[in-house]
Parts: sequence; C-alpha cells; structure tokens
Amino acid sequence: MKDHHKKSPIYVTQPLLPPLEEFIPYLESIWANKILTNGGPFHHQLEQALCDYLGVKYISLFTNGTLALMTALQALRVTGEVITTPYSFVATAHSLLWNGIKPVFIDIDPLTFNIDPGKIEAAITPHTTAILPVHCYGHPCDVDRIEKIADNYGLKVIYDAAHAFGVKKHGLSVLNHGDLSVLSFHATKVFNTFEGGAIICPDAKIKQRIDHLKNFGFVDEVTVVAPGINGKMSEINAAFGILQLKNIDSALARRKAIDTQYRTSLAGTPGIHCLPEDSNETANYAYFPILVQDAYPLERDALYQKLSEHEIYARRYFYPLISDFPMYRGMPSAAPANLPVAQKVASQVICLPIYPTLNQEQVDTIVNLITAPFAR
Ligand SMILES: *Cc1c(COP(=O)(O)O)cnc(C)c1O
Repeated sequence: MKDHHKKSPIYVTQPLLPPLEEFIPYLESIWANKILTNGGPFHHQLEQALCDYLGVKYISLFTNGTLALMTALQALRVTGEVITTPYSFVATAHSLLWNGIKPVFIDIDPLTFNIDPGKIEAAITPHTTAILPVHCYGHPCDVDRIEKIADNYGLKVIYDAAHAFGVKKHGLSVLNHGDLSVLSFHATKVFNTFEGGAIICPDAKIKQRIDHLKNFGFVDEVTVVAPGINGKMSEINAAFGILQLKNIDSALARRKAIDTQYRTSLAGTPGIHCLPEDSNETANYAYFPILVQDAYPLERDALYQKLSEHEIYARRYFYPLISDFPMYRGMPSAAPANLPVAQKVASQVICLPIYPTLNQEQVDTIVNLITAPFAR
C-alpha cells in the first residue's frame, strides 16, 4: 500500500528556482536576437549587475567555477608549487594539477577551518609562486596576514571564493582581496546559473586578458595571443542569473533565519559544536556545518546514518580531505601528520540542510533527531 503521508526527502541543499513563467520573456528575447553565446547582451548585463550587487570593479563570467579557477591560474602565469588547503571541494586542488602545478597542503585554523596563515611561511620553497586559499563555508580568510606574507615573498594570491557570494567584512566585499577571486554559480551554491562561475578582477587590463583566455585566446578575428580555453558563459545561463539576482536578498534572509533557528535550538547540546558567528561579517549562510565531538553519544558517521534513515541527506563536507584522494595522498604535504586539525575536523563535520525553501517544521525535525539522545 502506498503511504500518502510519507514526507519527501530533505537534501543538504535545493536550488533556488524562480517561477518558470518569469523566465519565458528572457528566452523569447534570445530566440528573437539569435545570440546564444560569445558575450551577448545578457552576458554584459549580468556582469554589470553582479559588479553592482557584489561591490566589485570587474568580473568575467565563466561556464563553471572550475574552469574559472584554471583560467585564473593561467592568467597570472602561476607555475611550480602553490600553497593551498586540504579542507575544500576537490576542484580547488584539481585546478592546480590541470595546470601542471604541484599543490602544497598546509593545515587549517581550528576555529575558521580556513588555511592557518601561521603555517604558510614554513611551506614556501624556491618553487612557490602563489597561495590558493578558500573562504571555507563563506567565512573570510585572514586576508591581511595572507597579503602580508604574499607581498614579502612576492607570491600571487588567488582566492577560491566559491562559497563567498555576497560576503562582506566591515561592510566591504571580501571578493576584492588577493590578485583574483573565483566564484562558482553551480546549482548547489547560494547564487546559481545552473552551471556557472566568475573571476573577480581588480582592473580592466587583467579582465581583458581573462576575457581573451576564456575565448581560446582570440583578441580579434585573426589574432590568437594565448592557448586559451572555451570558458564562456552562454546567454541562457546569463539570463537566468539576471533573474536569480532579483530573488537573492529574500533567499539570503531566509537562509539567515534557518541559521538562527539551528543555532538557537542546538545550543547547549553536548558534543554538538556550531561555528561561531563573527559580528564584523555579513555572512551568506551558504552552509550550516556542525562538529560531532566526543561528548555526543553517537559517532559522526552514526549520526549521519541516522539522519539518512529518516531521509535527511546531510553531507560530510569536507570528508575525505582532498589530500586523502589517490592523486594527492603520496605527496609529502598530504601526510596526515602534517594536517592534524584538518583530519580531525573532517572526521567530525556534518553540513546540515540549509536552503531558502526549507521550512521551520523541517528544521525542527532535523534538530529533534540530533537532540533525541538527550530528550526527556
Ligand atoms: C563548487 C566549488 C568549486 C567548483 O565550482 P564548479 O562551478 O562546480 O566548477 C570549487 N571550489 C569550491 C570550494 C567549491 O565549493
């Protein structure tokens, strides 16, 4: 017999989708002008709208965040070794390997889960040319300390800002730090264009170079200046982005409310640690990570399993560490002994579901499952 009262599964995230009829006029416009890609009107419009919304000077749109990362490294001619974090999505380090660059992993800070700036200098060698930090879960890195070290040693800094859409510190966009910052607009991210990504550029010159690189290196019909790639965002994706941007503020407000509900109702649960908030930050509530620590009666994987038995599909972001995947684990810097904090956090973390259409009752259900061992 069918169970008509069965609740639908809850995933860690659900993409934000505006009403379909709102997208139709954009499609009609594309069908009318027959410009499908190669820097069409929606592409220009989205670049301008994102510069205004994010508070950045120049942006170059991409097919996805990974190609944007790979192109950012090319644009700055990064070679040799790059210092990065093991605690991220695997694309961070893969973008280095695709460029023939060796990732050098350093440990993370136990409070922010971003690279520990105190560990950078010891990892620098004559081959080091850049640092590739991640604003993990959208929480800004210690950008001032990283910049100081980079300046002292003549290193480039590229931020993987895939989680940091709209994040501000002291009222200013975190995306303006470093030589370049890279965003992802994948379906799972706070702001999505189905697939998509972008590079934030500090000046018109570097934007121009990046615009050439994402279009095979073409400067004009007959001139190719670099072995570029095809990283261009299509007009459909750009049009969708323009529409999404109209809903972003209400989506962020809803995420903030969910974050508050989790924080308040999980507070005081023994062995459940939530990341502290920073009053200097305008967060985007992209993720809601918790650490399952010793005082909790279940191991992390047991809690993860229990949630999935109730059709709540949380994710262990980031487990396994990038440095534990086969193409990295033989590297000296990938040794677990070099990365004790990252190893520990990866063994304890669960990211709970958070997305604009997740309702209060669903959050209650998730919280009740987590706090059940202590229920009276
Ligand atoms: C999502 C993500 C990427 C990759 O972006 P895509 O748009 O999926 O290619 C890179 N780095 C981090 C930290 C991410 O979360």
